[in-house]
Amino acid sequence: MATVVILLGAPGAGKGTQAARLAAARGLAHVSTGELFRENLRNGTPLGVQARAFMDAGKLVPDELVLEMLFERVARPDCARGYVLDGFPRTLPQAQALGARLGTVHAVPILIDVPDQVLIERFGGRVSCTACGNVHHLVHSPPRSAGKCDRCGGELVRRPDDAPEVVGQRLRVYADQTAPVVRQYESQGALRRVDGRASPDQVFQGITRALGAAEAA
Ligand code: AMP
Repeated sequence: MATVVILLGAPGAGKGTQAARLAAARGLAHVSTGELFRENLRNGTPLGVQARAFMDAGKLVPDELVLEMLFERVARPDCARGYVLDGFPRTLPQAQALGARLGTVHAVPILIDVPDQVLIERFGGRVSCTACGNVHHLVHSPPRSAGKCDRCGGELVRRPDDAPEVVGQRLRVYADQTAPVVRQYESQGALRRVDGRASPDQVFQGITRALGAAEAA
């Protein structure tokens, strides 16, 4: 049976870092809708061009564009054993479409819980690799070599949507559109919460424990 993990959390909660780690540890595919959009942007595809204005403004890309891209991605062979969703679903219609698509496949929603004040502080030092999307923090997880990604050696820059004026908008969008998704999983009794203020290693242990408990239930 495939394992589908839905990693939830506000922008800056550490979803990307933890999803990559969990996927590697469990032999699952890491599916980040934000990264898929950025890949489309880099390749200059029509989808990338359409998505860009929304992303740069800190808004959500319309559901129909996200769903088509996501469902095409999870149909690929590397997702057959399961996958870790990072940044999806972000709206109630996306959650509903995912539920319909998964049918009886068991999905485990895990929330990385971080207070807004900590998120804002984290964005200050966040830099991302232009080649592979890996994230570093200049204070909390600095690269070994200045300006270069530890994973692939690519150039580290601040993402345009990590600029302070866009971060506020992204946090508002999260509260308005994505927090209801979290509450829905919670009301279904499915949600697992992990304290996201701890170190990346401790958060990873929390996620592993939460997944283990959900699988044993
Ligand atoms: P992320 O890397 O997950 O922070 O995503 C970066 C940006 O991509 C977001 O601010 C949105 O503009 C867009 N995006 C990513 N995932 C979604 C989604 N599931 N629904 C709508 N827009 C998304």
